[in-house]
Formats: sequence, structure tokens, C-alpha cells
Amino acid sequence: MAENTYDAIVIGSGISGGWAAKELTEKGLKTIMLERGRDIKHVEGYTNANKNPWDFPHRGGRTQEMIKDYPVLKRDYPLNETNLDYWVNEKECPYTETKRFDWYRGYHVGGRSLMWGRQSYRHSDIDFEANLKDGIAVDWPIRYKDIDPWYSYAEKFAGINGTNEDFPGYPHGDLMPAMPMNCVEKDVAKRVRDHYKNARIVTNARVANITQPLPGRTACQYRNKCWLGCPFGAYFSTQSSTLPAAMKTGNLTLRPFSIVTKIIYDKDTKKAKGVEIIDAETNKTYEYFAKVVFVCICDELNMGVDEFRYRCLGRRPW
Ligand code: SF4
Repeated sequence: MAENTYDAIVIGSGISGGWAAKELTEKGLKTIMLERGRDIKHVEGYTNANKNPWDFPHRGGRTQEMIKDYPVLKRDYPLNETNLDYWVNEKECPYTETKRFDWYRGYHVGGRSLMWGRQSYRHSDIDFEANLKDGIAVDWPIRYKDIDPWYSYAEKFAGINGTNEDFPGYPHGDLMPAMPMNCVEKDVAKRVRDHYKNARIVTNARVANITQPLPGRTACQYRNKCWLGCPFGAYFSTQSSTLPAAMKTGNLTLRPFSIVTKIIYDKDTKKAKGVEIIDAETNKTYEYFAKVVFVCICDELNMGVDEFRYRCLGRRPW
């Protein structure tokens, strides 16, 4: 095999890229994962993970200068000084909006898997059948039963904690025990359930923080610092989970600072056959070839689950 030829190319190293790299390498494919930004090593790369509010000049808050420099990120909670270097510099990398589009970007190994909100839910048949029933948009080509085992596969590896409830539109998952409610939350949950005769419930969020150890990962220490990278590997990220699994196979080459500029198209086979990249450090151009080119972008992370459902399904799920 030539030096620049692999079985598979994975573009991006965020949640999707990490999963793709894990699955492809575990199936025996020699894979190169291309990441446009720098490398952030698990544990040692999380420079602020053990800092306290008083260790930051502004106690972890946002300054007027940051608000000026980050016109998109300032729209929501992520803008603060505790992990500013995980987010794209919006002055250097602006984009044009014809209508509002919140594009929160992280250019580094792991992408936004280091900063995501970790909310992890299953669609149900209410979602999969919605377009057909409402007569709008495009009917999903699959139904819940088709994807159910894959949800389980992902949940068991990622480690999702939560509570299974017998509630419409909220399928059971393969979950770790939920983070316990406090006494007030328990009381509110009971009162809501009683008052609405189980037609409304208050339940735990399903979150990709492990409450029981997994190989190479320690259970969550409840430190509320999950956007800084987790030295315990307790929340699901590329670094804590999929990258170590892919590396363990010996089949993965990780190439940071690799900006993919084009997919190389083979006119004869009418298929993609590789990619061209610019090395962000040297400005040199390189080509890589493979039978599989896996493009991994996951903008639903920007949207949040509700918005993702809304955009995919053409309707709000409630
Ligand atoms: S997952 Fe748990 S241990 Fe890790 S940073 Fe978040 S709160 Fe802390």
C-alpha cells in the first residue's frame, strides 16, 4: 500500500469522526483521520480542567472584549474564559449569515465532543412517523425498530445515564443508573405525576456522563466542569472513548492540522477516491487516497436536540 493510500479516510475528529474511526479500524480497515486543527491529548491537554473560578482573571465569566470578538458564541452560554481556546476565533474565521445560524465551532482533535451538552435521547416512532402522518416533508425511510439496536450499541459504548420511563415518545434505552434526584426534585416529580395522572412526568435528563466505570474511564465525580475536557474520561468524547478504541487496533493514523480542501473524484468509477489537504502548519498540499471517504460533520450539535428534530422532521416533537 502506498504511503498516502489507506482503506478509509475520515474527515473530522468530532463525535461522528471518532465513531467512524473506531468502527472502521475495529473492522480492520487502515484508516487516516484528518483534523483541521491542533491535537488535544486526553487528560494532559485539558489545561483548565482542574482550575477553580478564582484561578481565572474574571472568575470564569465573559468580558466586554470577548462579547465584541465572538458575535456568534456570545448568543449562548458557551462564551466564557474557562475554555475560550477550544472555540474558533470568530475574528479570524467569520461567516456570513443570511438568516441567523448559530455555528459554534471547535477546530481541534475531538471537535465539539469536548464541549457538547451531552444530552442523548432516542427518537421514537412518534418522530419517525410524524412526516407521513402530517403529510409534510419526506417520510423517514426507517422506523424505530430499525434503529433500536443501534441506539443500544451506541448507548452501551458511550455510557448514557438516565431513567427508563413508560411514557409515549420516550423509548427505553440501555442506560446506566441516573444521577439521583435530590429530595425537592423527587417531591416535585411525584406531585407532577400525581396531579397529571402520569400524563406529564418529571424525569432525569439522559446524559453522556457515566455513573459506573467503563474500561479506561472513571465514573463522574459531579464536578460540573464538563466543557473543559474530563481528566476522568467520565463524559463521552472522542478523546475519552472512540479515539482510544481506534488507536488500540493499530489501524488508525491521526493527522491534525490537515484542512481538507477537496474530495478527489474519479470520473471513470464516478466515485470519490481521495482528498486533498493543506497542512495548516506548512501550507503544503498533500493527497490521500482510499476506497472509503467518510465526511463527518455534525451540525446538529449546534442546534440542540429539539432544533435537530425540528429541522429533520419538519415539526416539533411536542
Ligand atoms: S464528567 Fe463528571 S468528572 Fe468529568 S468533568 Fe464532568 S462533572 Fe467532572
